[in-house]
Amino acid sequence: MLGQMMQMPLTIGSLIDHAARFHTAGEIVSVETAGGTETTTWGQVGVNARRLASALGKLGLEQGARCGTIAWNNRRHLEIYFGVAGGGFVCHTINPRMGPEQMVYVINHAEDQVLFIDATFVPAAAKLAPALKHCKYIVMLGPRDDAAAAALPDLKFFDELLETGDPDQPWPEIDENSASSLCYTSGTTGDPKGVLYSHRSTVLHTLAGNQPDGINISAMDTVLPVVPMFHVNAWGVPYIAAMTGCKLVLPGPNLDGKSLVNLIDSTQTTLALGVLTIWMGLLGALKETGSKVPSLTRTVVGGSALPPSMIPKFAEYGVELVHAWGMTETSPLGSMNQLLQRHKALSAEEQAEIRLGQGRPPFGVDLRIVDEEGHTLPHDGKTQGDLQVRGPWIVDTYFGKEKTALTADGWFDTGDVATINAQGFMIIRDRSKDIIKSGGEWISTVTLENIAISHPAIANAAAIAAAHEKWDERPVLVAIKAGDVSEEELLAFYKGKVESWQIPDRVIFVDELPIGSTGKVQKNKLRDEFSRVLVDAP
Ligand code: ADP
Repeated sequence: MLGQMMQMPLTIGSLIDHAARFHTAGEIVSVETAGGTETTTWGQVGVNARRLASALGKLGLEQGARCGTIAWNNRRHLEIYFGVAGGGFVCHTINPRMGPEQMVYVINHAEDQVLFIDATFVPAAAKLAPALKHCKYIVMLGPRDDAAAAALPDLKFFDELLETGDPDQPWPEIDENSASSLCYTSGTTGDPKGVLYSHRSTVLHTLAGNQPDGINISAMDTVLPVVPMFHVNAWGVPYIAAMTGCKLVLPGPNLDGKSLVNLIDSTQTTLALGVLTIWMGLLGALKETGSKVPSLTRTVVGGSALPPSMIPKFAEYGVELVHAWGMTETSPLGSMNQLLQRHKALSAEEQAEIRLGQGRPPFGVDLRIVDEEGHTLPHDGKTQGDLQVRGPWIVDTYFGKEKTALTADGWFDTGDVATINAQGFMIIRDRSKDIIKSGGEWISTVTLENIAISHPAIANAAAIAAAHEKWDERPVLVAIKAGDVSEEELLAFYKGKVESWQIPDRVIFVDELPIGSTGKVQKNKLRDEFSRVLVDAP
């Protein structure tokens, strides 16, 4: 027997409709690429999103057509998020930190017909344009700009394009399973792979991601997504913001610590979200400016392992740091770290230790760890295995590929190595391609790096596997100094902190580490350079 309730498709258009209708005057503060700050409302974003959908239809775009964006977090980008998807097109966010070759690859692979760019990227777009096979229109976010028009022939302007759109045109009827947005992984090895989200997966991710033990945004919050809108849908924050009608602060191009402190203080931001390097910059600027960011109550951090010092440092300012894990393939929220009732009685230090891990999955994400043969491993907090996930907002098949990305029994292998404890708390121990296999035992590079970074004379460090005649692989640490320390002193610092066989064989000091487009250390590059140091040099 079927239930007898309404059939309402879960669509992105319905998210912005809700915000525009019930939070009409709710504010969005946007730092503009041209400088200065603009304030708009959810009502106006709703109007402009509909105008955009209508205007794109008038340009001749058919349902499902991909529209690329190379843009900062600002209000026009937000209007594109909702207008493109709401109109039945697909919003393909492009990471501007990719190299030009990768950018051309993803734009052509996605078959983007329209490219929305911020003024910053006009020179880059002028260079890329001749290589773009499907792109019919390039649109700069802003009003007409003669200098930009001269630099890029046939350039259109967002504000003029909106004028051609009808704000009263209803959203098309959309199957909730149709594609809404597209994001490519950074592709450290091989070509980037596209993850094609659906309206349904996005709305479910929005609902589940905002549970009290998740991102937990309310209409009372002022939310600053520093995480870029080109990085996995800004972790879903634009959609959650529309669902809750919170005040949204979009930081534009300047993400240095000082700019962020000023923005947090001037807008009274209560919750900010971003990757680790952003928060290191912010903490530095807090010291420098003397601001105590009194409005800020929470930051969400994800994207890479968290050094133990971060939680107490934020606590000094009365800011709770929430650690989250996810990836492009998981929309991205896979787990978030909020404590359980049983942890209430623990000391602040004990709680901080638990919160250093990547946390528990929300309803909708199932996690397991498996061994090399695919056998499920116990959730005992000790056994390490390949982390696999499944759920309605996890990728099934990469865009343009025929074969599913899943295991025979329907799980997605994350490429991470993790432990899970009896309460479901997961800790990422490594990327499976980074972990060091020394004589059949695994050594976590994350553990070795955290110890190195906790040394006052070390600014940053990466541990890699180096080839070894007897043990197959041994750990080598590549580190940047922040003060005076020798290789011997640093190696001695490991004694008692890990088993003696886990201590690196060598330390190589460098001036900088290679950083990829999503801000992570590119260990494959380090391996190319240093993986033979133990066999080539005696
Ligand atoms: P890419 O894999 O292309 O670098 P993603 O942003 O999709 O881009 O990165 C996902 C990966 O980042 C995860 O598989 C994991 O290895 C790492 N990661 C994400 N969040 C965390 C975290 N909180 N702690 C440790 N590693 C993390």
